[in-house]
Amino acid sequence: MPEPEQPDGTGNPADTEPASTDPASRPENRTVSTNENITRRAPLGSAIAQGAHMTHPGPGVMPGLEPPAAPGHESPEGREDRGAVSGTAGVNGPVPGGPAPHDAEGAARRRDASAAATGASAATGVPVVSGVPGVLGGAALQPQLDAFLAGHEAELIAFRRDLHMHPELGYAEHRTTRRLAERLRAAGLEPVILPKGTGLFCDIGPADGTTVALRADIDALPLQDEKEGVSYRSTVPGVAHACGHDVHTTMVLGAGLFLAQQAEAGLLPGRVRLLFQPAEETPGGALDVMAAGGIAGVDRAFALHCDPRIEVGQLGLRTGPITAACDKVYVKVTGPGGHTARPHLTADLVYALAKIVTELPSALSRRVDPRSSLSLVWGRVSAGSVANAIPDDGIAEGTVRCLDDEAWHRAPEMMKALLQSVAAAYDVEASLEYVRGVPPTVNEAASVQMFRDAAAQVMDEDGVVPTPQSLGGEDFGWYLESIPGALARLGVRTPGAPGEYDLHRGDFDVDERCIAVGTKVLSATALTALWDGGRPGAAESIEGAALA
Ligand SMILES: [Zn+2]
Ligand SMILES: [Zn+2]
Repeated sequence: MPEPEQPDGTGNPADTEPASTDPASRPENRTVSTNENITRRAPLGSAIAQGAHMTHPGPGVMPGLEPPAAPGHESPEGREDRGAVSGTAGVNGPVPGGPAPHDAEGAARRRDASAAATGASAATGVPVVSGVPGVLGGAALQPQLDAFLAGHEAELIAFRRDLHMHPELGYAEHRTTRRLAERLRAAGLEPVILPKGTGLFCDIGPADGTTVALRADIDALPLQDEKEGVSYRSTVPGVAHACGHDVHTTMVLGAGLFLAQQAEAGLLPGRVRLLFQPAEETPGGALDVMAAGGIAGVDRAFALHCDPRIEVGQLGLRTGPITAACDKVYVKVTGPGGHTARPHLTADLVYALAKIVTELPSALSRRVDPRSSLSLVWGRVSAGSVANAIPDDGIAEGTVRCLDDEAWHRAPEMMKALLQSVAAAYDVEASLEYVRGVPPTVNEAASVQMFRDAAAQVMDEDGVVPTPQSLGGEDFGWYLESIPGALARLGVRTPGAPGEYDLHRGDFDVDERCIAVGTKVLSATALTALWDGGRPGAAESIEGAALA
C-alpha cells in the first residue's frame, strides 16, 4: 500500500516519501489542472463490466465445489468430508459449516450442475463425492486444495523467500517478473508482460463466460531490511518487501497454479486472470495494467493484503470503503506586493493566504457529508522574506484524505471554487494544483460475500473477522472504479507472538503459514465468483470494527 496502513499512520515512511516517489514528479502523474475536467476516472471506463458480471457461469461446474449449504442443512458426513483442512500449514481445523448461501436459486442451480457432472476429479486424483444431497459445503474443494498444497507449499514458501531476498522497487521489478513468467510458463500458461517491462497478466481457463481477476502487487519499498536471524533477509541495501507484496505475489501464483490444474482437468467454470501489478507503492501501477487492457473483459477483481494485526488463519472483511484516498494540493497566491504601511493600495497577500489556509479546511468539510471524513490538512505554508514588505507570492501545500468515493471525486471542484471565492475577497490571484493519489478502495458487498463464502469452505469457523477502514491508500481502488470487487485483509501474525509488527517497517515479516491460507482463500474465492457470477441483493454488509 502506498500509504500508512495504520489509521494513525505513525512511524510510516509513506508520509515522508522521498521526492522520487511523489506522483507530481513522475511523467504519468495524476496532476489535475483547475481548468481541466477534474473528475478523473480510470482509463478504462465503467462500461467494461456493466451487466457482464451478472453473467452466470457456463457448464462444467464440478461436484462438491458449490458454496456451503446452511449449517442446518449440512449432514455430519459433510462436516467430516471437510475435516482435514490444514495441509502442511496446520493453521486450519475442521470447518463445521459456513454461512448459508443467500441465493437459494443459485445454490439449487449449482447442486444441479454438481449432480450432472460425474467423475470430474479423476485428473486430480481426488475422490469425487457423489450423490448431491450429501455433497455440500465445498466438500471436494478443501481436500483438493490440501492435496495441491501438500505438493506445492514448500515451493511457494521458497518462492516468497527468493522474492524477499531480491526486492525490487516500482517499475524495476524485472527479476520478479521474469521469475513469475518462468514459473507460469512451466505450468503451461502464457503470461503477457506489461508494456513497461515489469508486471504481467496471465489468463487461465476458457474465455466464454465469467472472468475473475486475482490481483497481486509485486513491488518493494525503499526501506532497509532490519530483520535479524532469518535466512531470507533482503540482499539489496535500502530495499525491502516491507508491505508483504512478496507474499501477495506468491499467493496469487499459488492460486494460479492450482486453478491451472483445475482448468487442465476441464473443471474451471470460466476464466481467471492473474494480475501481477508493478508499482503499487509509487503508486500507479494499477493504471498501467488498465491501460494495457489488463481488466478488459474482467467481471470481478479480488485481492488480499497482509495485515500484521490479524492472526494467521484469519481473514479481515469489510463492505464498502476499506482504504482511503490521499491527494496532494498545491496552492499558489500572487498579488502586486508593496509596503506594509499601505495594504489598502495593494493586496495584503499574507493576510489573504492566512485566510485561505484557515477557511478552506473548514469550508470544505462543510460541503460534504461528514461521514466521508474529507479532510484537508496543510503541511507547508510560505510567504514573504522581511517584516515590512508585503510579498507578491506565497504558497500552501497539504493533503486531502477522504473515506468516501463520491466526495473524493467532487473534492477538486469544491476546493477550486472555495479557493477562488476566498482569494477574490482579498483581491489576490490564486491557483490550485490538485494531484490525485489513489481513490478509496470501495468493496462491493456481493464480492465481499464471495470472500466470505470462500472462507467458509477453506478456513476455520472463526476465520472471518471484521476489519476497520484504513486511512492508508491502496491503488487497487483504481480497478474498483471500473469493475466490482473486493480487497480483504489476510492475517499474517503468529498467534501469541511478542512485539508489534507493522507494515512499512524494516522488521516486517509474516508467519509463512499465511501463504497456504491465502492460496486457498484466493482459489476458493475465484471459484465462488465463477459459479455465482454475481448475486445482486444477496450479500450481507460487513461493516467492520470501529476505527482504531
Ligand atoms: Zn501494500
Ligand atoms: Zn505498502
